[in-house]
Amino acid sequence: MIEITKENIEKAIERARQEKPLVKVIEFRRYSVTNKATGANYTVKFSKIGNRKFAECDCKAGQQGKYLCKHVGASIGIHIVIAGQISPV
Ligand SMILES: [Zn+2]
Repeated sequence: MIEITKENIEKAIERARQEKPLVKVIEFRRYSVTNKATGANYTVKFSKIGNRKFAECDCKAGQQGKYLCKHVGASIGIHIVIAGQISPV
């Protein structure tokens, strides 16, 4: 689980833009992200503790927890809409 900051979410969105994966809603705060070229599929989960927001993903980068992966970047847009938030952080 990685805390979402303005800096790391911008980088994650940038990485997602290059790949343009397919994002589907599984349930509130849970998204399925598929690479259309390879078919690789990962699950992204968002959570909130107080005012702090966190994201996790079951891909390799997500499991290492070093940075927000592109799957988080790909699903944050739809999450902001569904969660009714103006900003992800
Ligand atoms: Zn990921």
